[in-house]
Formats: sequence, structure tokens, C-alpha cells
Amino acid sequence: MTTPMDAGRTKPNLLDLDAAECAALVAALGFKPFHGRSLFKWLHKHGVIDYDGMTDLPKALRTALADTVSIRLPRISHTQPSTDGTVKWVLELADGQRVEAVHIPEDGRSTLCVSSQVGCALDCAFCATARQGFNRNLQVGEIIGQVWHAARQLGAAPTNVVMMGMGEPLANFEAVVKAMAIMQDDLAYMIAKSRVTLSTSGIVPNIYRLREVSDVSLAVSLHAPNNALRDQLVPINRKYPLEELLPACRAYLGGDKRRKITWEYVMLDGINDSLQHAKQLIRLLEGTPSKLNLIPFNPFPGSGYTTSSPERLEAFRQRLMGSGLLTFTRKTRGDAIAAACGQLVGRVEDRTRRNAGLLPVPVALPALGARLRHDGS
Ligand code: SAH
Repeated sequence: MTTPMDAGRTKPNLLDLDAAECAALVAALGFKPFHGRSLFKWLHKHGVIDYDGMTDLPKALRTALADTVSIRLPRISHTQPSTDGTVKWVLELADGQRVEAVHIPEDGRSTLCVSSQVGCALDCAFCATARQGFNRNLQVGEIIGQVWHAARQLGAAPTNVVMMGMGEPLANFEAVVKAMAIMQDDLAYMIAKSRVTLSTSGIVPNIYRLREVSDVSLAVSLHAPNNALRDQLVPINRKYPLEELLPACRAYLGGDKRRKITWEYVMLDGINDSLQHAKQLIRLLEGTPSKLNLIPFNPFPGSGYTTSSPERLEAFRQRLMGSGLLTFTRKTRGDAIAAACGQLVGRVEDRTRRNAGLLPVPVALPALGARLRHDGS
């Protein structure tokens, strides 16, 4: 027997649809397509998820929608504010899995860091998300749902989105591209294309595919200036080495002089942070319009790495700047709440236990099963 709850689950989720698909849906239900655009606007621009609140839609359409589709948002299960203004939201999905979204306010900008997968399959050596293994791709509604919640919580849409949360966005290509288009839609969140940034570890064929369908800003997790070291730190490099990655990135820019690739480079003490590495990096990026972000390593239990000292980091930065490479040191934000780069694991502390003086324990462990599956064990 199907309960109303099950029926809700099997109905298509309106939040998976873009404006054109909303129009097509409404037309298929026998109404004028412009009502579909209106529906899309209610959902995203006004945050209305109750048909009764969509006052300019014909009553019969509202009834037809209630019968045929549902509106399924992730649920905010925890909100963790940090002392530096950063907020981490733990979002629970319909199947009980959890992902994290992080809001980072900074001088006039409001940046939302969005997840694209539950876990990640790429196994970068220094990343906490990698430790939980891969569970599944997020659907469009689960990705845009993070922006929906942020817009409601903040009272306005974020000005910037970075696809730098949990997961590898280019491994969930269709859903991520569609969600990024909704972020930019004037009927929805109106975020400028240059203010939506997709970060990838370097899935080369999908960088070429992305160029065909989107012109968002591209960030690439480089982390090493040569194949031998990158093979260790970012294992996808064994499949798509630097001599393939660099041309793909240049092709993405398409000769547009105003655009640059943002390279992310995590500073690991004694591993990738010598002046020799800086020299190799300069040579590697020659001829590619680039901006380099040095990220102090954010530690997590059992990582086995430490971050470079501020002196070593600054010497590295100076060497790069000296060669004309635009190089910034990224401020670590949200580390007090494990919301910084590479610390997102869809895990929250059980406050009751902590308050009782016991050790913090993770209360959501979908990761464990995922890890086993990922390892094939
Ligand atoms: N999978 C995508 C999106 C993740 S973005 C990618 O690899 O680009 C998150 C960024 O934080 C990536 O550059 C990632 O390499 C970096 N990162 C991961 N773990 C980190 C850690 N512990 N400290 C600092 N940066 C880290």
C-alpha cells in the first residue's frame, strides 16, 4: 500500500526543475506556460513552498500541482555559528543523509559554500570529506535547496556561491550545471556568472564539457607543481596529469583576457611548500592567466599533515609574487566549527553528550557505510 508520504517521495520534486521545465510542466497540465515562470519565481525568489501562498496562480493549477508534483527541500538539522561570523548548516536530505553548506560573510560580500555530493570519491590525501568515502550525487533540488535555505536564513540571496563544499562538482555534472544556472536566473537568485565558482580537482573531460554549457568562474585544486607529488596528494592526477589539465584550463578561459583560473594550493608543511616547489609552480603556470590561492592546511584528527608556518607560507607567496603571479593567502574561516575547506564531513556533535561532559560524538554516520562501499569491502 502506498502511504501519502511514499506518494510524496515518488512524485517529481519541483525544486529539480529550471524555469523552462516549470513552464513545460504547467503547459502539460493544461495552463499557460507563463504561470510556470511565475511558479518558479515563487519558489526561488520569494521562497514560497506552499501553493496557497502563490496567489497569482489559478486555483485549479494549484490543485493540479498538489496532485502531481511535490516540493522537497533538505531540512536544516543543525545551525552552527562561529565566532568569525561564519555559519555552518547541516542539511538532512529525504533519505536521512547529511551534507553541509557554509556561509562566509566578508566586507560587502556574502559567500555560500555549497556541497555537490554526499561524501567524495576522489580520496585527496589531506581532505576530511575524502575520509568518509562516496555515498551519492546530490539532486538539483538538494543543491539549489542549500541556496534556498541560505537566502531565507540571511534575508537575501548570497552574492557569491562557491561549489567548494562536500564532493567533486564535475563528477555530478548535469545536476551541478543546472543548479548553477538556477542560481544565476533573474527569476531566482540573480547571482552574477562571475560570482559563481566551480572548484574541481581536475576531471579534464568535464572541464571541456563545462565550457560548452556554462561560463562560471573555474577554480582548480592544484596543490602540487609536478605530477609525482600531485599523484600522491590528488590521486585523480594519475588519470588526468598536469600536461592534460593545463591545456583544458586554458581552453576553458577561451582567450578572454579578463578571466583567470583560480588555483587552490593547500600549504602542507615540508610536503609542497619549498622555494623549489614555488619555482616549479611558476614554470607550470607560465602562459595561463592565473590567480593563486594559498590555503593554510586545516587540520582534522588523524590527517597526518600539519600546515606550513606563517613564515614559510609568506616566503612561498613572496617568491610567486616576485615572478608576477597574483598570489593570495586565503584566510581560514570557520575552522572553530570544522566548516573550513576540507573539514566538511556531514557530521555534527551531539550537544547533549558534550554538555554532559562526555566526548563529542558524531551522530550521523552515513559515511561509514559509504566508506565500506567505496573501498569495495
Ligand atoms: N572536489 C572539489 C571541491 C572541493 S573544494 C575540489 O577538489 O576542488 C575544497 C577545497 O579545499 C579544495 O581545493 C580542496 O583541495 C581543499 N581542501 C581539502 N581539504 C583541505 C584541508 N584539510 N585544508 C585546506 N584545504 C583543503
